[in-house]
Amino acid sequence: MADPRPVVIVTGGARGIGLGISRALAADGWNLAVAGVRPAGDVQDVVGELRSHGGHVQYVSADISKSADRARLVNEVVATLGTPSALVNNAGIAPKVRADLLDASEQSFEDVLRTNLQGPYFLTQAVANAMIANSATPRRGIVFITSVSAEMASVNRGDYCVSKAGLSMTAKLFAVRLAERQIPVYEVRPGIIATDMTAAVKEQYDQRIGNGLVPDARWGTPDDVGRAVAALLRGDVPYGTGTVLHVDGGLALPRL
Ligand code: NDP
Repeated sequence: MADPRPVVIVTGGARGIGLGISRALAADGWNLAVAGVRPAGDVQDVVGELRSHGGHVQYVSADISKSADRARLVNEVVATLGTPSALVNNAGIAPKVRADLLDASEQSFEDVLRTNLQGPYFLTQAVANAMIANSATPRRGIVFITSVSAEMASVNRGDYCVSKAGLSMTAKLFAVRLAERQIPVYEVRPGIIATDMTAAVKEQYDQRIGNGLVPDARWGTPDDVGRAVAALLRGDVPYGTGTVLHVDGGLALPRL
């Protein structure tokens, strides 16, 4: 008998926000295909933990900024777990150095854009085509993890902001294009979330949050984002393709 659990690909799903998403989806009964840049041997504990929910968990070491890796990722998942019902574009990078807009390098721009924008843009194209090619597999949706930086300007990481603004438009584009295929597309926009990515600026944000930067007055957690994604892919926002869901404790609310 075919496994009734639907399959979801979570990029960057073995760490940080992505792990929060993987945990929430595993608990919701999904079979997981987790992608990351680390070799499989480095994520055995995480994979074991995710398997404890009873579903299949496949780890694929694949760099989403590389076209050949994206193709291999989709092929391996389809061959092993079957056609995905969902994709979560979570993997992303911060610039190696937070450099002022007037000094930042073109190399950093290229690296950040290739991973944060070009990667998910073309991975979504590939996964959407795999979904369309197999009409028997239920379609649950595609989620883009962008950031408050899609709208809020940080002049010490312009490349990152541009990548997330572009990713936000990518979500809109695929929402429009895939509606006729019954594939809903959502954008989840996290605020300041405690992960390895923000570890380097922890004291700075502790202080700013203490001074009122975030109305909810706390750091966000990977679990906050995971629960939002699980709700979307469960179908709890029907007739809602193109929805932008803010998981930022009110950070992006205009205030006077
Ligand atoms: P982390 O640095 O903690 O984790 C990043 C994840 O992405 C890792 O799992 C990593 O893989 C994976 N990854 C990075 N580059 C690639 C690549 N080229 N190919 C495949 N996988 C890759 O970051 P966060 O969890 O904080 O961030 C996750 C997403 O959320 C990012 O898109 C980020 O921009 C966004 N975000 C984060 C916020 C925050 O405050 N932390 C706020 C708003 C948005 P591996 O596990 O192998 O290292």
